[in-house]
Amino acid sequence: MKVSKFGGTSVASAQQIKKVAAIVKAEPSRKIVVVSAPGKRFDGDVKMTDLLIHLSAAALRDEPTATPLANVMERYAEIADGLGLDEDIKKIIKTDLLNRLQADKSSPPLFADLIKASGEDNSAKLIAAYLTSIGLAAEYVNPFDAGLFVNDLPERAQALPEAYDNLSDLRNKKTITVFPGFFGYTKRGQLRTFERGGSDITGSILAAAVQAELYENFTDVDCVFAANPRVVENPVEIEQMTYREMRELSYAGFAVLHDEALMPVFKASVPLCIRNTNNPSAPGTMIVAERDHSLRPVTGISADSGFSTLYVSKYLMNREVGFGRRLLQILEDEDISYEHIPSGIDNLSVILRSHQLTVDKEQRIVERVKSELQADDVHIRSDFSMIVLVGEGMNNQKGLTARAANAFARTGVNIEMINQGSSEVSLVFGILKEDEQKILNELYKEFFEPALVH
Ligand code: ASP
Repeated sequence: MKVSKFGGTSVASAQQIKKVAAIVKAEPSRKIVVVSAPGKRFDGDVKMTDLLIHLSAAALRDEPTATPLANVMERYAEIADGLGLDEDIKKIIKTDLLNRLQADKSSPPLFADLIKASGEDNSAKLIAAYLTSIGLAAEYVNPFDAGLFVNDLPERAQALPEAYDNLSDLRNKKTITVFPGFFGYTKRGQLRTFERGGSDITGSILAAAVQAELYENFTDVDCVFAANPRVVENPVEIEQMTYREMRELSYAGFAVLHDEALMPVFKASVPLCIRNTNNPSAPGTMIVAERDHSLRPVTGISADSGFSTLYVSKYLMNREVGFGRRLLQILEDEDISYEHIPSGIDNLSVILRSHQLTVDKEQRIVERVKSELQADDVHIRSDFSMIVLVGEGMNNQKGLTARAANAFARTGVNIEMINQGSSEVSLVFGILKEDEQKILNELYKEFFEPALVH
């Protein structure tokens, strides 16, 4: 049995949903189909989830909802008409939305979750209706009825352990299950969504719960590439990689899969395949527990901007017991998590995601580190990017860092920070954002086209 998840672009229009149906029909083992809300049909289009966010914002501000609601309904109507479905499904969706808009608004995040999740929920109902209309035995399954229970956190819920047990019953269903992604319910029956992009997580949870032979994640690219194809010309396709490699790559910019989506399938040892709805004959990228990595030490190179550095220096810092703890406590008080802490003898830098900082927070942090820790110098810079070399084969590879450093030297890009995790699956370089594209291309040449540089 396979669990097949179709992302937003795969269900964005009637034409796309027909492709989904053909894929489902092609293999009887595709018994569980997880769907996103309709995504973008073309560059510049608006995703259904964003239309729904506008709708809930208008309702929460007590503004008229007729226009944002009409925008949402127009997308569904276009899809339903294009699929030749009768009026019933449009009525079901409209009634559902009107009911949701009547819900309690005393907690804005909970109300917003309820409205946002309708995108996936109605997408699943619509796709189930279409599959049925073309003669497949398919059935919409509601996450509450199936027992997808989650914790209380709005907008970033996480599945409870018992959800897996409950969902394992889906194995026994004779019909094709069409399951909405992106949300679950608390045990009291309140809806909560996962983070944005969270339909990937639903698919992974279901694949783990039913012990699927494969979790297929259908999107709009043929495979995962070894570097961002918008920066590097014709990067190589990754045929196979490990869960750890995918995790490291998605950390810094490989946005193919939500990063919480790996854990459930990883724990259950279910292989995952990234595939293209628009080109189903392409084999895609397989993500597995182990692979032969003798051929190439580096599997992929990712790059991501939006990092800030809190730089702290203090004479004799290394001898001061508890310095690091007190510094991190200040960050914790501001509800900030950190990414890396490279350190010297009398100084250290804490690297953070910039979106967590505000001007006020920055000021408070700098003042507190100066006054409470009596640091000599404290400042924050916020124009950093991280470049990450990823590969299981990097472990114990002599000369690998030298090769990377040579690539930096050739471009004249300064390395602001180097961090090699103890697993040696990744090597992280902190650089200024302006240097990102230049060094990504040079590192790519070094590790994937060495003949061009040596
Ligand atoms: N529709 C949601 C989003 O746009 C979830 C998803 O597609 O995975 O974030």
